[in-house]
Amino acid sequence: MKTDFNIHNLIRENIKSLKPYSSARDEYKDTTSTEMIFLDANENPFENGVNRYPDPQQNNVKDLLSTIKRIPRENILLGNGSDEILDLIFRAFCEPNQDNIITLPPTYGMYGVLANVNAVENRKVLLNENFQPKVNQILETADENSKILFLCSPNNPTGNSFYIDDVEELLINFNGLVVVDEAYIDFSEQRSWLTKLNDYPNLIITQTFSKAYGLAGIRLGVCYASKEIITILNNIKPPYNVNELTQQRAILRLQKLDEVQNEIAQLISERKRLKKELECCVSYIEKVYHSDGNFLLLKVDDATKRYHQLIEYGVVIRNRTTQPLCENCLRISVGICEENQKLIRALKAIQ
Ligand SMILES: *Cc1c(COP(=O)(O)O)cnc(C)c1O
Repeated sequence: MKTDFNIHNLIRENIKSLKPYSSARDEYKDTTSTEMIFLDANENPFENGVNRYPDPQQNNVKDLLSTIKRIPRENILLGNGSDEILDLIFRAFCEPNQDNIITLPPTYGMYGVLANVNAVENRKVLLNENFQPKVNQILETADENSKILFLCSPNNPTGNSFYIDDVEELLINFNGLVVVDEAYIDFSEQRSWLTKLNDYPNLIITQTFSKAYGLAGIRLGVCYASKEIITILNNIKPPYNVNELTQQRAILRLQKLDEVQNEIAQLISERKRLKKELECCVSYIEKVYHSDGNFLLLKVDDATKRYHQLIEYGVVIRNRTTQPLCENCLRISVGICEENQKLIRALKAIQ
């Protein structure tokens, strides 16, 4: 539990007074109504399926998510990928050239990119040798201008989840917002932080349709937070940030959750099989790290050499050797069974 937290102390001055841009579609939403005619938005009236502006609040998608995740609609915001959501959080809370954020490398690159774009200092506190947060050092690094702490759990590229007690300690003692990026949560045995939303008013959880839901191409990210935080982000988001085709495809997917669950189960089982195979049978692989994601991080003898050799065999993976704590590490996404077989064959062929 965290008490005596006031979100209004964190908002940028120019954002505080903003009201959301009121679009035509905000006032009368149901363009499928047959009694009304819609001459309010300068749209082309000839129907083709997407001639109308999309619902700016994505109510149908949110209703489904709300039921599935057991989170009220007022605690949900959707964005053009998680990347847009992360950018909205920066713009709402970080004053350029004044505030700072804290990230824990090696981690997802977008936090640092968005900090640079928004002219916000990125204070880096490396993970420890087990890829876990150094809680005390993080808290010592924070000052009154530290607005956001980014916790990616399961973490990309290391694959592990952060200890629950550590995350809890950070939520309680860090006085800014804590963004828990759960892009890979569906592949993890650890539970989502969603159930703790009411306990921590500074908690923001981001999830995505890009990984387990198999819809990277539609660009849809989800943000769960207090009603106050969601209202602020809603006020600054572009009105039509999630397009009609994206909303339609997301709805179709959410209506077939058994398919999603089936794919997740297959990927987890492939991940386990792949890990065993790489550990036993490829001599230059020194370590395969535990993964709660749909990818594996491995340490090899010479990552750059192996990376280029694999390309010769038609297999593209990610070389992470330049990341801190990831010397000679490669990150490999788990593919379908045949792809993983090809990968294993290539890895063995280049011994
Ligand atoms: C892939 C990934 C995302 C997804 O970003 P989208 O913009 O939603 O595609 C978010 N966070 C992490 C850590 C990721 O690895």
